[in-house]
Amino acid sequence: MSLLPAPPASRRLGQSDIVISPLAWGMWRLAENGRSVSEASRLVHAALDAGITLLDTADIYGFDGNGGFGDAEALLGEVLAAEPALRPRMVLASKGGIMPPLPYDQSRGYLSSAIDASLRRMRVDMIDLHQIHRPDILTHPQELARTLEDAVAAGKIRTIGVSNFTQPQIEALAHFMDLPIVSTQPEISPLRIDCFENGELDQAMRLGMTPFAWSPLGGGRLLSPGNARDAAVAAELDRIGQAQGVGRSVAAFGWLMAHPAGIVPIIGSQSPERIAEAMQALEMRWTRQDWYAVLVAARGEPLP
Ligand code: NAP
Repeated sequence: MSLLPAPPASRRLGQSDIVISPLAWGMWRLAENGRSVSEASRLVHAALDAGITLLDTADIYGFDGNGGFGDAEALLGEVLAAEPALRPRMVLASKGGIMPPLPYDQSRGYLSSAIDASLRRMRVDMIDLHQIHRPDILTHPQELARTLEDAVAAGKIRTIGVSNFTQPQIEALAHFMDLPIVSTQPEISPLRIDCFENGELDQAMRLGMTPFAWSPLGGGRLLSPGNARDAAVAAELDRIGQAQGVGRSVAAFGWLMAHPAGIVPIIGSQSPERIAEAMQALEMRWTRQDWYAVLVAARGEPLP
């Protein structure tokens, strides 16, 4: 039975010359549970030591509905201040453009100041990948393009990405930009399969964008399925994972990485052991039969 190509040991970030790991680590949950600087540092080390170089955060991470805006970036900033040698080991990705309780603001004035604030909190000179977190319907894409390209020209951000944009929103922004949009970040997981058939990944391939998968385990739902369909997906991943000596979460990462768009799953775990374990996904090999078996379980009905 023929196998799908193995995932590469590294990937390029979109059309940029930046090399990234095929898995990323996310810091959405970093500032939870009163995590200390030394605990946060242990997690950053776990990711980098495992070979994960793309670290993803956002200015809003830490916000709990009342306060905490900026806390995840600030905690990372303390880690970097204590150990500056960590900075060159990572490709640092952050996001902005959500200003609670507005909720979205990508006007030139707000977004420029948000980028400056992210730099200050993380105590860095430059963000390697700045992503617009969610589209602001009230900002013209031409204004957004100018703001982002000016931030690149000023040396504050190196590359530009988007998250949770529709395909027409990406097309419109790309139309007004001279620089490429290097990445997109939709929710993708074995429980969230829309992008495989709605054109999002096809657009990413056409425009040369790296697709980052947020919540690649469905935010943890894949580990404790709550309905028959989710349980069927988990059972397929268990079957395939067991045959290759890996657990369900690793099999889920491997499944995403087998797609030709070069999906980079963002590991959400804040456990050093699970972060390191995720890299086992690089060893997985997929037959078409197994890959489609997971898709069919997720669809809940056979393919036509
Ligand atoms: P996820 O990987 O789908 O879920 C992670 C959760 O699953 C954690 O609470 C983790 O707990 C739990 N988990 C339980 N068993 C696990 C196992 N065996 N292996 C790994 N995790 C296990 O990811 P996520 O945290 O929802 O999101 C990942 C990243 O995506 C975020 O950090 C952020 O960077 C990005 N994100 C982006 C957006 C956006 O709008 N752009 C939205 C959401 C997330 P433990 O910590 O105890 O392992």
